[in-house]
Amino acid sequence: MDVERLLPWRNTWWWPRWRSPSFLMLHSVGEEVVDPCCPNNTVRPGELRALVEAMRADGYSFATFRDACARGGARTACLTFDDGWADNYTVLFPILKELRVSATLFVTNRGDPSFPREKWSDEDPVPPGASYLTAEMLREMDASGLVEIGGHTAGHSTLVKIPVDGAKREIETNKSWIEGLLGHGIESFAYPRGGENDGIVALVKAAGYKYAASMKKKMRPPAEDFFRVRRQIIPRGMETWKSLLLATRGKWKI
Ligand SMILES: [Zn+2]
Repeated sequence: MDVERLLPWRNTWWWPRWRSPSFLMLHSVGEEVVDPCCPNNTVRPGELRALVEAMRADGYSFATFRDACARGGARTACLTFDDGWADNYTVLFPILKELRVSATLFVTNRGDPSFPREKWSDEDPVPPGASYLTAEMLREMDASGLVEIGGHTAGHSTLVKIPVDGAKREIETNKSWIEGLLGHGIESFAYPRGGENDGIVALVKAAGYKYAASMKKKMRPPAEDFFRVRRQIIPRGMETWKSLLLATRGKWKI
């Protein structure tokens, strides 16, 4: 009997992913929502803490994106935070230090005072009072050894929607700013809004990145494609048992 035909095992929420690390996608962390357009993108500190503790109790250990791609296996978890919100330093970083948990932050040049505001992508209006990670914050977190800093383009443009030379500039301007301020190379990248195609992947590779995160959910081992590593979104307001199933199985509904 062909058991696999009877059992859609890749899609079943209850089937533990023995071989693959769990890559999770988050944005800001705080009690208040920073961006009214996307309330799900701000998890509460208590929700994040409860999820980390539940995963630890389930035998998971946490790695940066780079390490999870390079050598992560079963029961490796990777927390990623996109867009470089300042609360990644003020709220998230103290939690990472207290719990000794690694994470990767994918940041744009919005915290770079020399990057002109008119070059910020106009696809997502910046909420009033928004603040972004500065060079000093990024340096301190990088030096802690807990946090990997990765690229997310200079102005947060959807790379597939702009001309190739513009996309190349978006990737390179961002990478050289981050590397300049950290004083070392970076290896990981995330496509804004998940926008990628073969041409964009080629640009990201040519810029010297080794790994890139997509926004596709259904998880698979990263070695299947290091430039389209899938991540599961963890939304705001989810009960811990549900977010644990989402984080470890990818789905929680039967
Ligand atoms: Zn983004």
